Amino acid sequence: MSFLPRFSVAVDLKSATTEEFDILIVGSGVAGLYAALKAARYGRVGIVTKEEIAQGSTPYAQGGIAAALCPQDSPAMHLQDTMVAGAGLCSREAVSALVTEGPGHVRELIHLGAQFDMEGDRLVLGKEGAHGVRRIVHAQGDATGREVERALVEQVRNADCEVLERVVVADAVTVDGRCCGAVGFDAETGEPLHLRAKATILATGGAGQLYSTTTNPSVCTGDGIALAYRAGAKVADLEFVQFHPTALAVDLFPKFLISEAVRGEGALLLNEAGERFMPRYDARAELAPRDIVTRAIWEEARRTGTDHVQLDLTAHPLDAIRERFPMIYQTCLEHGIDMAVRPIPVYPTAHYLMGGVKTDLRCHTGVEGLLACGEVACTGVHGANRLASNSMLEGLVFGARAAESAGTLCRQELPEVRTHSAAPRAQAAFTDCRDTLRQLMWDNVGIVRSGGGLARALAKFEELLVLQTAGELRREAVEQANMALLAALIARAALVRQESRGAHYREDYPETDGANWQGRLELSPVPLDETAWELEPEQAFAPERD
Ligand SMILES: Cc1cc2nc3c(=O)[nH]c(=O)nc-3n(C[C@H](O)[C@H](O)[C@H](O)COP(=O)(O)OP(=O)(O)OC[C@H]3O[C@@H](n4cnc5c(N)ncnc54)[C@H](O)[C@@H]3O)c2cc1C
Repeated sequence: MSFLPRFSVAVDLKSATTEEFDILIVGSGVAGLYAALKAARYGRVGIVTKEEIAQGSTPYAQGGIAAALCPQDSPAMHLQDTMVAGAGLCSREAVSALVTEGPGHVRELIHLGAQFDMEGDRLVLGKEGAHGVRRIVHAQGDATGREVERALVEQVRNADCEVLERVVVADAVTVDGRCCGAVGFDAETGEPLHLRAKATILATGGAGQLYSTTTNPSVCTGDGIALAYRAGAKVADLEFVQFHPTALAVDLFPKFLISEAVRGEGALLLNEAGERFMPRYDARAELAPRDIVTRAIWEEARRTGTDHVQLDLTAHPLDAIRERFPMIYQTCLEHGIDMAVRPIPVYPTAHYLMGGVKTDLRCHTGVEGLLACGEVACTGVHGANRLASNSMLEGLVFGARAAESAGTLCRQELPEVRTHSAAPRAQAAFTDCRDTLRQLMWDNVGIVRSGGGLARALAKFEELLVLQTAGELRREAVEQANMALLAALIARAALVRQESRGAHYREDYPETDGANWQGRLELSPVPLDETAWELEPEQAFAPERD
């Protein structure tokens, strides 16, 4: 990469409306809202969010939250499943924090009003791929995220937090390398805003919108990662994009997800000829880790010359399906598919970004005053492949940790902002190139990659980055600039890693190469060239045999 603007918008901070907070939280999904509730005791909290408060990936989550909550389970067993799914790149320390602190936060979520499915006074626990036991709490069958978001929004509305909706945060404001808040603008009027804060927590979620097919809603354009990188933070694990194996194969953008829990309850994957194929690919069959199931579907569809496979739960009684998966059942019906009678057509789609802004276990990004948690961050909990239902758990555990770190930062005095945040005004009028970018990502930086395709895509993204420095206070212009930067970073990381591991598959390097690549790939904004990466060694995990 040879070009990186420090700012994506041209704003004179002196003339912008200024809001002052102790703690600024960008994003209102599970990570941002939980962090806000935990941070409220440290000072004045402001939550800024791009659309209305309950918009983001969180309300779309179906399957649930994984946590060791029953006597047959333990944090050690959860750790083992997470590390195995992560294909050797999980940080053991980060996973340990996740699985040991997770159960307490799930109980706290219940205390805050989230109503999970119960049988008498016992939580009903679901099973998903690569989990050794049933450990997934869920709500209203398959509407877990909606319930989590509802409960957290209700609490935040009652807490002492200010919520600014429909505000796009564009850049971090820094003084001598210390983050002092952010600059943004009203998404409807374009009015610039200077959001001053002693601690800024990025909780902006993922980046599925970089792909032409994704489960992620429109707000997931990777803004937080681009913003942090421009401000000097490192990014890590970006080559690991999770493609969920089973999105409903109908013409929708974003795609509707058919939760992993459907396979957990016994659904089988069948190819065009009606044959069950997963046992040929992995002994765990339909419940193998997501990357394995995704590539198997890709291969089967290619081999049989079709664009989907079938997910068959018809052996299940109708009542059980309607009770466990009411939303999925209803949505399939709306598309003319009665899943109790016939299999559901499914195909993989971009779903989750394992990588993100590199943070330590206290959510510090390396830019003082700037913290990150949730899907935007890379703590190392997911390694090369996220274990199903670990993401909302990550939002809770690291949301709470980010709040604690923000509390410490609040004790510092904030320096005066001397400079203005400025980017060159856009030279040309905004041209919408997002669909081209998305198609390039899907075709070249998708499920199966090659050096040639990655290099070609990277060159295009870099061109776009130069042409489309946003400048304008307009949501789609800022998002496109962020998408171009992040697309270039993902393609760069995927090109650098010359092996296949977890969700990153290179047909020109099909084997895992532990001798050369047993580590976390970090990209740094300095120096701004192709040498700006390093491999942080990560210890391989040897699972215990039972
Ligand atoms: C269909 C679907 C099903 C899933 N199912 C599960 C599941 O069962 N279990 C599980 O653990 N995980 C699941 N996941 C993943 C999980 O939902 C997400 O990883 C998690 O909810 C992310 O939470 P978050 O708080 O980090 O981000 P999000 O919930 O995505 O929230 C991001 C927030 O940031 C805001 N934002 C973004 N950019 C800006 C900006 N520039 N300015 C201001 N605000 C901004 C957005 O508006 C939004 O409020 C699923 C995801 C999807 C899409």
